[in-house]
Amino acid sequence: MSTENWRSNELSLKEVTEKYPDFPKLIALKIDVDRRGIRFTDEAYKYVDPGFHYTQKVVVHKGEPGQKILDIPQGFAFRDGTVSCTDVITDQPRAYRDPYTLDVVEGKLRLVDNDEVLEEISFWEKPDFFGKKTSNGTLMESLVDVRPQRVTFTPNPKCHFWDKPGNGCKYCSFHSETRGHEITVGDERYFQDIFEVASEAVKQKGRFSQFHMVSGSDFSGEKPFDTEVNLYIKAMQSVGKAVKEKKVPFKLVASSFSKEQLKRLYEETPLTTYTTDLEVLNEEKFKWICPGKAEVVGYQRWKQSLYDAVEIFGRGNVDSGLVGGVELAQPYGFLTEEEALKAVLAEADEIASHGVSFAEIVWKTGKYSYFYKQKTPSLDYYVQLAQGLADVRRKYGLNIYTDDFRRCGNHPNTDLARID
Ligand code: SF4
Repeated sequence: MSTENWRSNELSLKEVTEKYPDFPKLIALKIDVDRRGIRFTDEAYKYVDPGFHYTQKVVVHKGEPGQKILDIPQGFAFRDGTVSCTDVITDQPRAYRDPYTLDVVEGKLRLVDNDEVLEEISFWEKPDFFGKKTSNGTLMESLVDVRPQRVTFTPNPKCHFWDKPGNGCKYCSFHSETRGHEITVGDERYFQDIFEVASEAVKQKGRFSQFHMVSGSDFSGEKPFDTEVNLYIKAMQSVGKAVKEKKVPFKLVASSFSKEQLKRLYEETPLTTYTTDLEVLNEEKFKWICPGKAEVVGYQRWKQSLYDAVEIFGRGNVDSGLVGGVELAQPYGFLTEEEALKAVLAEADEIASHGVSFAEIVWKTGKYSYFYKQKTPSLDYYVQLAQGLADVRRKYGLNIYTDDFRRCGNHPNTDLARID
């Protein structure tokens, strides 16, 4: 899948870190791993212990000879604690470039590239509540995803932008996922289950510092998105009961809501921070890349919803996810990295001046996405983007506590909050 001479067409990791000596080397490596993916050696796979590490069953070589189910670690950490959410997976190469290799060198798990031995990594541990069942008999781990410091609940994984053919976001692979039936506010059994999971999670001392909730977009209801909002309110109240506090560190990643809906979320639940993802910081590219979002809400209204949320949740407690680099997808994206960087950072500056932070992820060309065959930007671009977004956040004095390197770990720009 990779292009044979891709290495000679862009700066290497070493050259990029020499070009930007103040940029943390491990964050540059983390970005590059995310950009290019990782492949196990058989020896490295022997180090995966599903009894101790956080793994999920993944079908590899799907639909091909050799198809099998493996326990795949859902992320790893570098030696300084920097978290990477890159799936360590065997059969999903990114288009254009070769993946890094995870191998065993002198008894340690090490990243290797082109025969050069790089950093040591370790897999995340699974939490104590995994393996337990709720009073309804539901396996607790089936109700959540976890990161080293947070528990994520996903009441409804189905995103309804996909209901209309061609309306899903073009970089997104989620339409191929099936994760159980859609939960509604009448599913009392589910709400009891997540209350019990949250109660167990907080018993593990020193493990979790935040709850997190995310679901697919659902614009049905009396007013658009009422169904989605009502589901979150009930789900967050159920989780919040486990802590017995009015407010707990709780982040919601959700659709763009009206002021009235945002007020309900803030006033009726323990929620403290809200993310709604503009994804692409350019109106014209947004319309092309996220057609469902553009049709149902629109770029300007999406922005306005972020600003409304700042009035309710406070500056720095609202952020927008970005799919970093997707603005360069072709044929309608920016034609050069210079042009893209300038435009994206100018728009980020304008939005941040209203009190909104950003959480950027590295664009990956997933197998089931419309953009699967696209070439993603250079590492040089991603380093400049992460640094530029971090500078914009600092310029306006915004925090990013619930999406930072500790609680999330999926965003190169918020990793830099560590050196604020
Ligand atoms: S909103 Fe876009 S990115 Fe998110 S799940 Fe739906 S289609 Fe995918």
